Amino acid sequence: MTNPLIDPFARPISYLRVSVTDRCDFRCVYCMSENMTFLPKKELLTLEELDRMCSTFIGLGVEKLRITGGEPLVRKGIMTFFRNMRRHLDSGALKELTLTTNGSQLRKFADALAECGVRRINVSLDTLDDKKFADVTRWGKLAQVLDGIDAAQEAGMRVKLNAVALKGFNEDELFTLTEYCAARDMDLTWIEVMPMGDLGNEDRLDQYWPLSDLRRQLAERYTLTDLAERSGGPARYVRLEETGQKIGFITPLTHNFCESCNRVRLTCTGELYMCLGQEDMADLRAPLRASDSDAPLQEAIRAAIARKPKGHDFDYSRQAVDGQMTRHMSHTGG
Ligand code: SAM
Ligand code: SF4
Repeated sequence: MTNPLIDPFARPISYLRVSVTDRCDFRCVYCMSENMTFLPKKELLTLEELDRMCSTFIGLGVEKLRITGGEPLVRKGIMTFFRNMRRHLDSGALKELTLTTNGSQLRKFADALAECGVRRINVSLDTLDDKKFADVTRWGKLAQVLDGIDAAQEAGMRVKLNAVALKGFNEDELFTLTEYCAARDMDLTWIEVMPMGDLGNEDRLDQYWPLSDLRRQLAERYTLTDLAERSGGPARYVRLEETGQKIGFITPLTHNFCESCNRVRLTCTGELYMCLGQEDMADLRAPLRASDSDAPLQEAIRAAIARKPKGHDFDYSRQAVDGQMTRHMSHTGG
């Protein structure tokens, strides 16, 4: 490897999240509107371009790759991409290949993913109630996701659940979800909902439930031990002494993780976002398509990393966040 990627604040950039599609088989109310217009196919990076892009980042020191979307497993041919990424795990350049999925396609793909070297996956699931699941995802079927989780575990992958904390929606499932995960030896991470003001879903199920409150409720039943472990991202972890599980709390709007931020995000059209909370991005598709040589792409990546901001400047008021976050999670991949 030549010079690895180090940003102006001396943070090594070792983690790339890649959105491989903006499409999804669900329409979660906090993420998408019911009638989404998706990007024309030609705007998307092809599977070959995704490979070249990821391989270039790996050549520059990225050691962890998380594939996301939209729903990554609905991208046609995506297993070819995963199979090809395996060569970087085999060479030792890539330490971890993982994905975040809604779980709907796991029964179909779990074995193949495990064969590609995927050892851990994140599955997003906010409720264990059929009716509530149908309400929050609009198009999803709970049984299919639960079966997908079983398939992933049968394939030998570790599963972590991600749940968006929604007041008046899954507050009453705090313990049910914890117990479901404990019974399956799964960790559980709660995500504070980011208000997406332009979805037209206001007053639906996107009510803010502060994680401080969730944590307090958890502590009424379990003994919580803070863990020093940090992922370089906006998550903090505790261990529940009674179950041995790790519980994570992701508060994307707080600043307290910026100093150790090791990640950047690539959209399915090849835009690189250097910070989840800022609009600045670099178009990497143009240099990728302009030349068969990877040199211009490498230069564009280095130039982008040199612009990575120290931290984001979310205003804590919901109003300001609404105005600021004009792009959806399905675009940058959360
Ligand atoms: N479709 C996959 C899934 O749902 O896991 C991957 C993409 S999804 C955009 C990634 C994560 O973002 C999911 O865990 C989802 O719950 C979360 N997410 C989407 N919109 C959100 C919002 N407004 N606030 C907080 N988390 C959100
Ligand atoms: Fe699809 Fe994931 Fe967004 Fe739900 S959160 S609509 S599953 S991309």
